Amino acid sequence: MDIVLVALVGLLLGALLNLVIIRLPRERGFGGWPRCTRCGQRLAWWQIAPLFGWLAQGGRARCCGRRLDVLYPLVDLVTVVTLVLLYLQHRLSISTVYSAAVAAVLIVTGAIDWQHRLIYTLPTLGATLGAVVVAFGVPFHSLLNALAGVFAAGILFVIFYLLARALFPAHRAPFGLGDVYLGMFIGAALGLTNLAGALLYGMLLAGAFAASLVLLRRFAGRDAPQYISYGTFLCIGALIYLVIWGLAGPSPLL
Ligand SMILES: [Zn+2]
Repeated sequence: MDIVLVALVGLLLGALLNLVIIRLPRERGFGGWPRCTRCGQRLAWWQIAPLFGWLAQGGRARCCGRRLDVLYPLVDLVTVVTLVLLYLQHRLSISTVYSAAVAAVLIVTGAIDWQHRLIYTLPTLGATLGAVVVAFGVPFHSLLNALAGVFAAGILFVIFYLLARALFPAHRAPFGLGDVYLGMFIGAALGLTNLAGALLYGMLLAGAFAASLVLLRRFAGRDAPQYISYGTFLCIGALIYLVIWGLAGPSPLL
């Protein structure tokens, strides 16, 4: 019975995260009743119901018939699954609340980067600072571990960033400063002891996705995107790591 309750809280949290994902990049504010992302019409209450709104409309906006991004129900689903898995591991504890907050930042950041290729500087650095402060006060994390994670990820990602700029001077860099800030957040939130594992999951996912895009272009002749949102994969990797291992991962070396 408590699982059902946790899943319901997950649906509500997912709706809240979608609100941020939809409105922050487009309107930079959260006032007013939700409108269709396609045609701007006011939505009925059941259209904004998490997960079920998308299902009830069959993936197309009822007002204008245009396709709705599958990202939104996916965010709902990922949030529910994450919350249920965290609850099963840590029950109702500071661990669960902390991990859910970290997961929320990862889901919002990953989704916005996927849609807009954009990682916000101030919110990401603010979340990093928040994670460092909280690390000081909770039993399962430590200030030293969080700070070491920030510095290790910061140095590693600045190197990536400089390499990307040197290798792709003419293109829009495939690896931006936003990815550096995101790496620092993951370092702070999970700590140095979990950083290698969390980043490895994300890099493997990004590599697998990039490889499948190349195959799609070459063998299926399909029009595949030329770039991938690297930050999205870092977020998914860190989220998977967090749900599987929590903050007590296997070892610093994986
Ligand atoms: Zn519409």
